Amino acid sequence: MRALTLMGPRQVAVEAVADAEVEAATDALLRVTSSAICGTDLHFYDGRMGAEPGMVIGHEPLGVVEEIGSAVTSVRPGDRVVVPTHICCGFCPSCVHGYSGACLTTNPGKAGAAYGYPGMGGYRGAQAEFVRVPFADANCLRLPGEPGDEYEHDFVLLADALPTGYHATVLAGVRPGDSVAIYGAGAIGLLTAYCALRLRGAAVVYVVDRVPDRLDKAGELGAVPVDYTAGDPAGQIIEQQRRRRGGAAWRGEDALGGVSCAIDAVGFQARTFGDPAREDPRRVIHDLARLVNPTGRLGIIGVFPAEDPSGVDGLEREGRLDVPWGKLFAKGVTIGMGRDHDKRYNDFLRDLIAAGRIRPSEIVSHRLPLADAPDAFRRFDERRDGYLKIVIDPAA
Ligand code: ZN
Ligand code: ZN
Repeated sequence: MRALTLMGPRQVAVEAVADAEVEAATDALLRVTSSAICGTDLHFYDGRMGAEPGMVIGHEPLGVVEEIGSAVTSVRPGDRVVVPTHICCGFCPSCVHGYSGACLTTNPGKAGAAYGYPGMGGYRGAQAEFVRVPFADANCLRLPGEPGDEYEHDFVLLADALPTGYHATVLAGVRPGDSVAIYGAGAIGLLTAYCALRLRGAAVVYVVDRVPDRLDKAGELGAVPVDYTAGDPAGQIIEQQRRRRGGAAWRGEDALGGVSCAIDAVGFQARTFGDPAREDPRRVIHDLARLVNPTGRLGIIGVFPAEDPSGVDGLEREGRLDVPWGKLFAKGVTIGMGRDHDKRYNDFLRDLIAAGRIRPSEIVSHRLPLADAPDAFRRFDERRDGYLKIVIDPAA
């Protein structure tokens, strides 16, 4: 079969690899109809997070069951399904308690497995014609409709991007009436804004970035775009919040000049605001600590690796970060972080899509054949030409 393979830093190629197949009685083989490229894939593309050449990448597949193992009972060949990025077993203590992203059996000795992701169990990726789905009964989410119908791009986002955006709003405890600041207008930041506004009742959502078409998309979704190249983004948000209050605090809320919820949707490869070519992993957390109101909530959904040998400073190389802990303590801030437990959310998000209540595919910018994936990676990595969320069609 053909699959997108990491060849080295900033080099991917469509290669002929061994066919994916049913290996265990609990497996299913999925024929992939859509496979999305994720911002996380760019960390590997950039040679970070311990990615090794030869790895088939991709962790956001949608498809049709081609074949099942003898022990699989809930799906059969021909079923349209999406599978979560994080491979779960369904029966370990983490899975039973709703923490499928920390499954204890699919990556022995660690908590959490994923397709095409270094250090996450060695499973082959999903930017391929076929993918092997372990524990098919726990992972396959059945979907209505037919491959290629009007929901194809909504449903592919159920694999990772949409539940991850929703999870970010859960980590930050977004409630009706909240003010929310999100750093990063990639697919996750935008879908976090979308979920905060449409599903969690936020009163106002600010989205900080520097890429014009991403900021435009944030505006289209109903958020307030904040361009950090135009000046200190936290200052811009504090000023907009002041104007929203008409210049005076409501009910004496002078200390609440920032936002009730602040979300990092950038992660360890954050850029210096003054010089976007330079990385500064501490940049976003320092802004969030300044912006979040006393008793507010922080959600950290951007990725931070356990160690980063190519990091810009000694702390980062050891997986450590300079965080304004005292300021956060004084404010009594609640912090939530970590990977998405996608299985906790993907069924009700599917039902919202099927009911016509949400159309997250608004953020999908491109649908391309597998052969165009190397070029798409290049442009996506350079944040060029409106490459925001790319869906690969392996059959094209
Ligand atoms: Zn992803
Ligand atoms: Zn499990």
